[in-house]
Amino acid sequence: MVISFPHVGLTWPARLRPKPQVDFCRNADYEVHRLYPAASAAGAACVQAVYSRLVVDLNRAADDVSLRLVPDHPAPRPRRTPGSPADALAPDVPIGRPGRGVVWASAVGNVRILDRPLSYAQFSERIRRYHRPYYRALQVLLDRRVRRFGFAILVDAHSMPGTVGPDLVVGTLDGHSCSDLVARRALGALRGSFDVRRDDPYRGGEVVRVFGRPEEGLHAFQLEVSRGLYMDETTLHVWSPAVADDPGTSAAEARDTSIRRDGGVLRGPTPRQGRGLAELVARVTSMVERLAALGEDTAAAAGLAGRSVGSVASPPSPREMGPGLSNETYKG
Ligand SMILES: [Zn+2]
Repeated sequence: MVISFPHVGLTWPARLRPKPQVDFCRNADYEVHRLYPAASAAGAACVQAVYSRLVVDLNRAADDVSLRLVPDHPAPRPRRTPGSPADALAPDVPIGRPGRGVVWASAVGNVRILDRPLSYAQFSERIRRYHRPYYRALQVLLDRRVRRFGFAILVDAHSMPGTVGPDLVVGTLDGHSCSDLVARRALGALRGSFDVRRDDPYRGGEVVRVFGRPEEGLHAFQLEVSRGLYMDETTLHVWSPAVADDPGTSAAEARDTSIRRDGGVLRGPTPRQGRGLAELVARVTSMVERLAALGEDTAAAAGLAGRSVGSVASPPSPREMGPGLSNETYKG
């Protein structure tokens, strides 16, 4: 199994100017990787973006950009929605997500971050340095697992604003990105007392579209977790999963163990929220373990294996990994 965290990056590369004057934490799936403490123990490789989604959005196609943003792009293919195949849209037609393709013109809260269009050279440099290495790393890790187990599972891990509604959303491109067995295992592990939806309202983005190829033994889905379950969304104080270990933790104790992001007033989870967080971490852990166990289950593995094993690439050198990845979390 491979777990991908494309939207946790908070860094802006020094070489790119100007640096947007925005809160990078509010433009990230802030700290969502903390919900997967059991990943390494279960044998999963984690790939974590280092750079902000405002540099390139890793869950968008490399050509998901309009001529308004990159006027000299030779072949832009803006998508109506992330993860959809490029369609016959004219390249300069306004789409439903103004300026929110692979490079964003405005940050969360509609703050403009590009005051002029990018040249194709500037745009391509961003893709080459920050977008491509992430996909290459995922491909190498997945190929390695297909070689060993006959199949691989990719969880593309995100978080969503609490206002979206459901607690968790499993996106499978309407059942096309993974086998039904994988989807059912994930959904079954996550349910508990949570409101868990499948493909509603998120079907999965570009990561799942690229790597969800069940016929080749590659099973991918996107998991969205409501931020209201693990942080105070107003202050962005993330509640420590340590709080979750003890369902009896009082709000006062929780305050002490919250992660202090700035000098503001900390608001830990209420006891009820603490119980929700405890269950969330337990459910995500159970999902990771149950999916990892498929590797040891001969009958299941045979059903998940691809009909033809795809290309097997060699491991990337640190240079090939590019600057957009944390080598620390890259575990083959
Ligand atoms: Zn995300």
